[in-house]
Amino acid sequence: MYLVKSGLEEVLGGIENHISVYREAIEAEKRQWNREAIVEVQNRQLRAVIQNAVKNTTFYSRHFHDANILPEDIHTVMDLARIPILTKQNLRAEFRNMITREYPLNKCNRNRTSGSTGEPVVNLQDYVLHNRVFSINSLRQRWGWGHVEPRRMLHIMPRRFHGDAPEFPEFRIDLNGLNKVWMFHPTEDSNDYVTVLNHCKPDIIYGNPYLLLNMAKQLSGESRDFNKPEVIYSSFELLDNPSRLFLSSVFDCRICDIYGFSEVGDVAWECPEGHGHHINEDYLVVEVLNSQGQPVIGEKGEIVVTSFYNDAMPIIRYRVGDIGVMETDPCPCGRHTHRLKQIHGRNVDFISLPSGVRISPYDIMNILDLPSIARFQVIQEAVTTLRIKYIQTQQQNIVPLLHERLVKKLGHDMNFIFEEVEHIAVTGSDKIRTVLSYIE
Ligand SMILES: [Zn+2]
Repeated sequence: MYLVKSGLEEVLGGIENHISVYREAIEAEKRQWNREAIVEVQNRQLRAVIQNAVKNTTFYSRHFHDANILPEDIHTVMDLARIPILTKQNLRAEFRNMITREYPLNKCNRNRTSGSTGEPVVNLQDYVLHNRVFSINSLRQRWGWGHVEPRRMLHIMPRRFHGDAPEFPEFRIDLNGLNKVWMFHPTEDSNDYVTVLNHCKPDIIYGNPYLLLNMAKQLSGESRDFNKPEVIYSSFELLDNPSRLFLSSVFDCRICDIYGFSEVGDVAWECPEGHGHHINEDYLVVEVLNSQGQPVIGEKGEIVVTSFYNDAMPIIRYRVGDIGVMETDPCPCGRHTHRLKQIHGRNVDFISLPSGVRISPYDIMNILDLPSIARFQVIQEAVTTLRIKYIQTQQQNIVPLLHERLVKKLGHDMNFIFEEVEHIAVTGSDKIRTVLSYIE
């Protein structure tokens, strides 16, 4: 009797939770059209996060004391600039001191990521809370892209992101959206994607760019018919333009890029009308700072994030390691959230010239943005050596053109090695670095 009762309570509790997530997603959907409502939530959440961090963690208590500020000094997002930046080095050195005292650790995951320097960063996350916010933002974003549930979704992800979910051909029901979801973990080149797609018939495919591209590459020469989705959601890494064009040519569908990083989760998602990435501002604050640490709008700067839901281990003014451009005007689509335009990739992957000048990976991507290149990777192997690997969609000698463009941008002191390849290898933590530098 006890077991029956507790089982029933668990089921009812689960349903109650899904209803609550759905209700909050409806509120979040409404809020994005109203600047005042966004600002009100942001400032209220920010004050709560600051109070908790300073009161309940050794690190932030000291961090604020050293900067001579009190939690009460932070009233609005405008006051954030007074708080010193949190670095990956802080996360590595102060892990224990950053954990909220007496937080129920049985609700937490140790989240491990390869940092932009290649060194692992670990942070602690309340997985119930993270899943809740992920679900709310996913619902809002899918509604923005015109998807009313239920849908059929195929997740193409590395196994470590699957958690306890059953894998293809098994499926689970995502109760928040009542979607039917298949989790598929590809292994090398042995997957028969035609069978997978025709079995699942997904409306939506969600995955990492390199896994999506691997699938697209295998399907591009396919003579059999295969089921095509309405939209592909690409997440986790930068989706460069050649990759986007290749995906949309193979699947003949819309592509939505989601910007995020594992220490926090989804940060922003691509505007359905193509005007940059809408920031999930009711769950976090994004700042873009210039080299003097001042917030900038409309120009390139470092992305710094404050999360409202990293309660177990607060993340306040965290330097992510990416470069972006902030846009604060209302979007032509009608939403009033701030947007990130041009997300420029990891800043260690800038190319350093022998003169010391650093070239943005975005500029390198532009040079390689040619219709005849399906995918590329640029590796700075030494101060004066740049290896350019590329996969061509059609046979033509593009080396003279690439050489001319690269010399124009990088000068005559660099040696370029051009290498046409069949595959581009994965480098580190399941990620391809499109522009990778081994130079500090
Ligand atoms: Zn928009």
